[in-house]
Parts: sequence; structure tokens; C-alpha cells
Amino acid sequence: QAKALGRNTYSFFTKEMNIIMQRRFEIEGQMRGALERNEFELYYQPQVDVKKGHIIGAEALLRWNNPVLGNVTPEEFIPIAENSGLIVPIGRFVIKQALWFLHLWQNTEQKKYTMAVNLSPRQFRDTELLNFIKNILKDKQIDTDSLELEITEGVLMTGQSFIHDAIVEINALGIKLSMDDFGTGYSSLSYLRQYPFDVLKIDRSFINCITENKPDCDLVKATIAMSHSLGLKVVAEGVETKEQLLLLNDLNCDFVQGYYFSKPLPAKQLLELSAAHK
Ligand code: C2E
Ligand code: MG
Ligand code: MG
Ligand code: MG
Repeated sequence: QAKALGRNTYSFFTKEMNIIMQRRFEIEGQMRGALERNEFELYYQPQVDVKKGHIIGAEALLRWNNPVLGNVTPEEFIPIAENSGLIVPIGRFVIKQALWFLHLWQNTEQKKYTMAVNLSPRQFRDTELLNFIKNILKDKQIDTDSLELEITEGVLMTGQSFIHDAIVEINALGIKLSMDDFGTGYSSLSYLRQYPFDVLKIDRSFINCITENKPDCDLVKATIAMSHSLGLKVVAEGVETKEQLLLLNDLNCDFVQGYYFSKPLPAKQLLELSAAHK
């Protein structure tokens, strides 16, 4: 009996694993060549100043539409790009596109918008990445503090010295550093002490229930107060309702990002929204 059950459990497990592995294999296969085939597009989600109500900048979010697989979410393809190393050329494409758009946006409205770009751990092994970024900023005459690089504590957890060095250099260049998904990991507090973060982004899982759930609200309140006393600006992620926005205003949150104001948009639509909102 036990043996039969064991065998069944085993074969069930391998069947599930097989499906997962097959999907990964397919995604990785399609991702090779996807850049050359122009299948990636950046969307931009505006970030809004809570007190003033202005758009202050945007976060660049990658979208992938593949003829075979259709739309694949970043939640699914970014980890595969990360594991396969494909995130290196894809990540460079993201930075190039995002800065190209930022240049256009700043010049169109003569306003100093910021652009936030996500960096995954593997991209720190791209030793030329910072030179690549520096050259584009110089070329486009974009102030270094208009660019914000978002990292999660996953980047810092390995404790590798080249990551530490890269972060020191990012800071020395005047590029902003942002802690993404704050609250979802293990030891973010010690990283805030060790690294020169400028911005802290409270994960949307905390924002979700702030108007109904007192402990969540208290945590967000404390996080904002702590960030301010450390000299960091705070972005609340995933703001979906007016009630959440009003509460975050009471809690002195600096900026919000979320569906209440806007979903991530293609470049052209963000320009339209931004012009209409001036
Ligand atoms: P993230 O950096 O934390 O980005 C925020 C995610 O929350 C985005 O999901 C965004 O669309 C979503 N979001 C924003 N407002 C709301 C809201 O009000 N409600 C809900 N339910 N969701 C909201 P997205 O675009 O699917 O990206 C998922 C994750 O994939 C990102 O999380 C980031 O970790 C990663 N990612 C996306 N683009 C890139 C990229 O270019 N490079 C790297 N390395 N990672 C990326
Ligand atoms: Mg992010
Ligand atoms: Mg986030
Ligand atoms: Mg994330």
C-alpha cells in the first residue's frame, strides 16, 4: 500500500515537473531571438506626488508578446531570463529604451521627470553595464539623478563584493537607488543601514488592505516614518482606490503608483496622459 502510494506520488510529481520544465524550456527557446524580432516593448507606469497630485516620473515595465506563446508576464519570463543569462542583453535593451523615452518626455514638457528601471541580480555581473548607462546619460544629456535603479533585497543577499562596489559607483554617479518590494523579504532593515538608498517602495501586498486592516496600516505608517527619518522618499505600490490614496496622504507618503491613477502604458499613451495632466 505504502509502496504503491509512494510510486503514485512520485509519478505525479514528475508529471507536474515535466510540464513546468517543458514550459520553461519553451519560454527560454522563444526568448532567444526575441530581441532581434522586436518582441519586447516597454510600458510606463506613472508615479504621482501625493500632496501636489503631479506626475513626477514613471517606472519602466517590460512586456513581451511572442507569436507562439502570446503575451508572457514578466513574473514568468524575468526569472527565466535571469537564470539563462538572457537578462543581460534584455536588461540593456530596457535601459536604452527607458532612457530614450525619458529624454523625449523631459524635452517635450521641459520637466525633470524621473525614470525608474528594475535591475535583477544577474545584471550586476555585466561588468560594462554602468559604463553603458553612463554613456547613454551623457549622450542624451540626461541628469544622472533622473534615473532611478530599483533593486530588491535579492540583489544584496549574496553579499558579493562586486555588487557592493557597483552600488557604491551608482551612488557616486548620482544615480538614485531604490529598494523595491519592501517588506516582502527577510532583512531589509539592515540593508537600509548598509546601502545608500534614496527611495523605498512599499510592496503592494501591504497597501492592499491598509484601509481595512489596522496592523497593515500601522506597519505602513511606521515604515514611512522610519524612511523619512533615514532621509528616504517613499513610494506606495499598487494603490487602487481613492480611500487608499487619502489614507496614504494622511500617513505622509510621498509618492504613489498604481491602477487608481494609471496602469502601465505604452510610451505614446503616457505622453498623452502626462500632457493632459499638466
Ligand atoms: P515590480 O518592479 O514590483 O513592478 C510593479 C508591478 O506591480 C508591475 O507588474 C505593475 O504592473 C504592478 N502594479 C502596479 N500597480 C498595480 C496595482 O494597482 N494593482 C496591481 N494588482 N498591480 C499593480 P508587472 O509589470 O507585471 O511586473 C512584475 C515584476 O516583473 C516587476 O515587479 C519586476 O520585478 C519585474 N519586471 C518587470 N519589468 C522588468 C524589467 O525590465 N527588468 C527586470 N529585471 N524586472 C522587471
Ligand atoms: Mg519595480
Ligand atoms: Mg515592486
Ligand atoms: Mg518585484
